[in-house]
Amino acid sequence: MLRQRIFDELNLRKQADDLGVKIWQTPSFLFIVMGIIIIAAMTGVYVVSINYDSPEVLVISESIVVVLLLTVGSFIIRTVEEVAKSNKMKSEFVSIASHQLKTPISELKWQTELLLTKFSKGLSEKQIEIMNEISHSGDKMGRLINDLLDVARIDQGQLALNKEKMNFCKMVEDAIDLQVSFAKLMNIELKMICNLKMLEVFVDKRRLAVVLDNLISNAIKYIDGSGKVDVIVESSDGFAQFCIRDNGVGIPRNEQNNLCQKFFRSNNSIKNQTDGTGLGLYIAKNIVEQSGGKLWFKSIENVGSEFYFSIPLVDSEKKGLAVLK
Ligand code: ADP
Repeated sequence: MLRQRIFDELNLRKQADDLGVKIWQTPSFLFIVMGIIIIAAMTGVYVVSINYDSPEVLVISESIVVVLLLTVGSFIIRTVEEVAKSNKMKSEFVSIASHQLKTPISELKWQTELLLTKFSKGLSEKQIEIMNEISHSGDKMGRLINDLLDVARIDQGQLALNKEKMNFCKMVEDAIDLQVSFAKLMNIELKMICNLKMLEVFVDKRRLAVVLDNLISNAIKYIDGSGKVDVIVESSDGFAQFCIRDNGVGIPRNEQNNLCQKFFRSNNSIKNQTDGTGLGLYIAKNIVEQSGGKLWFKSIENVGSEFYFSIPLVDSEKKGLAVLK
């Protein structure tokens, strides 16, 4: 793991590609340059100090070192500023483009629904099938646009949560009910294990439903063939804890560090399940963290995965009992 990390840090080309900058602008390259300059400057000052007794020479050489370090430092700051600016512009672009796309896609959805419900008389079976396909694609595009909007909001620090008191057990039950038919279709046994009736949490119900929907549908989606998904809800140290366990394809060990990053999809799941954007977990993690909780997972490739998240219970939050470990 550590070796892989060091290797990644020194792989300047990969870093440049990942960040979309030139090699000489990558943090690792600038760090190495800075290190070389500091070592060279210290050696230079040492050589000057043992060869010249005059304090003026020492002051001049130290000044040169300071100027050099300030120049490299200001260059690094400017590069960071540029990266931050382009990141902000990208988020704004995604946000504007998604907003603009929302209206025509809703229009497409309404029109196809109208055609399928009110004006379907006279349409052939094939035409209805095509209209259903269009409607299905419209739904998919709508979901993608909502995800992109959420990602832009998260990146701009503007994901507002409309919190209210909710029963966590009931929310999980409702989320499972919505996935029962999908699980049946995929030949997956979906079960909830919960001995509690009530766990009061203070959350945005719409956003928490998105988290639950993502984790449950992922557990079903990433099982190759038939399988089993267990959802366990319990109370632990002042938190409501959710765990979902599947016996699916799992996540390769060397890719686990990248999970929950935007657009990341593991190689085995791309092969198994071509449909996906890699945005769901990123959004889910941010919603959970903004609700005062945390999200984590354990996974073994070809054995299965366990995804967990916790949310502070209302009473514990008031008494200051819920402290994230
Ligand atoms: P999507 O499912 O649309 O690709 P997500 O952000 O929900 O996006 O998930 C990101 C990636 O994490 C998935 O593409 C998959 O590689 C991996 N993943 C998530 N949940 C599971 C799971 N239960 N089992 C195996 N891999 C998973």
